[in-house]
Amino acid sequence: MKVIQRLYELQELELGGAKDSPEAKLRIESIRKETPEPIMGHYDRLLARGKRAVAMVRHGVCTGCRIKLPSGSYAALIRDDDISMCENCGRYLLLSPEEQPEPIQLPAQQVQPPPPPVEQKPKPTRRTAKRKKQVPKEPASVRSES
Ligand SMILES: [Zn+2]
Repeated sequence: MKVIQRLYELQELELGGAKDSPEAKLRIESIRKETPEPIMGHYDRLLARGKRAVAMVRHGVCTGCRIKLPSGSYAALIRDDDISMCENCGRYLLLSPEEQPEPIQLPAQQVQPPPPPVEQKPKPTRRTAKRKKQVPKEPASVRSES
């Protein structure tokens, strides 16, 4: 969730030492503006109590309270389909960067040999490469193909 990522950044800015710098102030202001009010409200309440409002999740464990998340919550967090909160400590949860699943929707590993280095030779191949935006440009000579 981008919102939570920004919120985490906000938290680091506000709790960090550099929050009085002009850049940090600007950033803080803009994040606060972009973040929906209810979220900001919860964030501020937690911070007012001296708690961090956003906790990283590592190995399925909320680093805020060290409680393991229910697998359902963890799965939802990985799916990134909603804002997740720790049921135990009420912090917003952010999956730690090293646990972000990168290729989410790909099943296992797609074995794809890297394309051979192509020299600028027009090849008379028929297959339409879909994953590459390789539009063969033929300026003047329009061949009546297809
Ligand atoms: Zn927690």
